[in-house]
Amino acid sequence: MSFVFAPLPTPSAAVHGEAARFPIRRIFCVGRNYEAHAREMGKDPTREAPFFFSKPADAVVDDGAVVPYPPLTKDLQHEAELVVAIGRPGFHVPEESAWNLVWGYAIGNDLTRRDLQLEARDKGRPWDWGKAFDNSAVCGPIHMATQVGQLSSGGIKLSVNGTVRQDANLSDLIWTVPEIVSILSRAVRLLPGDLVYTGTPAGVGALLPGDVCVVEIEGLGALTTTIAETAG
Ligand code: MN
Repeated sequence: MSFVFAPLPTPSAAVHGEAARFPIRRIFCVGRNYEAHAREMGKDPTREAPFFFSKPADAVVDDGAVVPYPPLTKDLQHEAELVVAIGRPGFHVPEESAWNLVWGYAIGNDLTRRDLQLEARDKGRPWDWGKAFDNSAVCGPIHMATQVGQLSSGGIKLSVNGTVRQDANLSDLIWTVPEIVSILSRAVRLLPGDLVYTGTPAGVGALLPGDVCVVEIEGLGALTTTIAETAG
């Protein structure tokens, strides 16, 4: 096969302790997966079926990146999240075997143009311009499940310039990792390289040019992102 121009490199994430990188196929994100966050967004946190949105694979940025303040928004916000990396194919996967698809975990920051997301939400429009913009999927090194096991609890914390904004536990997830993987696999065929952002706890807030945002998850280290002083 030949192409009319050279294809761009495959988007990828770092792997903890390995030189080789994890190739990214698609990025799925769960909306409202912690009760207190659902409430702060003005929504009922009852356990209704989870919903998903997507980000482009090439929106991914590594730990340590300097991210330009994105266009169109006056309210860029952080969202600390556990990211699940899929390493095996699966379609209609029962919850009991969903862990088998999980290759590893990373710390993520689901950067959001909140003003555009809320406007879209309230007008019944797609969330893309609020969620799926360039550099919006911050993802730290992936830790292999063979090393860290099945992550179902542990602190998740986010700070901006040293001040803690989000502080919760993975055990607070409304929908657990195997539930999310199982439910998602009934909508699409999951394939190796898919990433799933599992939702953010309460405490989301604004990021300004020059801010340094650090997300920590127990057992996965820390993920640092700096918002550039100049607009992107
Ligand atoms: Mn999110």
